[in-house]
Amino acid sequence: MIPGSLYVVATPIGNLGDASPRAIEALRAADLIACEDTRTSRTLLARHAIPARTVALHEHNERATATKLLRVMHAGRNVALISDAGTPALSDPGALLVEQAHRAGIRVIPIPGPSAAVAAFSASGFPAERFLFAGFLPAGRSARRKALEGLELPWPVILYEAPHRVLETLADLAERFGAAREVVIARELTKKFEDVARLPLGEARDWLLADPHRQQGEFVLVLAPGEPRSAQTLEAERVLEALLEALAPSEAARLAARITGIPRSVLYRRALERAK
Ligand code: SAM
Repeated sequence: MIPGSLYVVATPIGNLGDASPRAIEALRAADLIACEDTRTSRTLLARHAIPARTVALHEHNERATATKLLRVMHAGRNVALISDAGTPALSDPGALLVEQAHRAGIRVIPIPGPSAAVAAFSASGFPAERFLFAGFLPAGRSARRKALEGLELPWPVILYEAPHRVLETLADLAERFGAAREVVIARELTKKFEDVARLPLGEARDWLLADPHRQQGEFVLVLAPGEPRSAQTLEAERVLEALLEALAPSEAARLAARITGIPRSVLYRRALERAK
């Protein structure tokens, strides 16, 4: 261990066997372990007989706790940061502490390991040159639908979703991106009831309803990439979206065609899809 450093340690997302030897070594050697929830992390720490010198660091106390932890590290002691599962600071607390450590000149050392997003992506089979990690979509339906507008991309999109919203979100994805677009539903990764299904969005609802257990547990959704679109098409769609806020589809398509040069018939079809 390098004295006075911050170790950002990834921990298992279900299967405790996924804790890497380096992760265990870093936790054992840390003077203090900052946990998202000290009770949740107790299972992992107990399994490896790591004496619990823990402090809670969660979204409600992150600023104040970060200040205290910086003092600990300035005094030459090591701090390890872990979250309830997976990689800290990824849809989890920790980024503020890491940022402050950088600003204070404290060395930040990542100990890489499990992350639900990367595990799901690796099991998707979608092209891997590029992807977008979009985390959790907004919980409210209209905000969620709005957020989906920004996810029409020519590369895969990774989403986290809560079990009680997964049906609704898959319905919104099908409506927005079409029933034929594929999705990977990665559920309970590394756990006993793990499921990874790749199927068209139009079949996702039936797949989830086919077995009551399939709507339980933790989910990652990986949306297949969309067709690459030219800058002109993207611009035309933006113009069309704006016009549709005030005009009927036929009029919006006519004006968008005049402004952008994209054929009216193409834009009219798109406008009707949006109106649905
Ligand atoms: N930092 C974590 C990581 O690196 O994976 C993610 C934390 S985020 C608060 C928790 C979400 O991750 C869950 O709601 C679920 O969407 C996803 N997740 C975590 N563990 C999972 C698992 N074993 N299988 C599928 N999804 C999981």
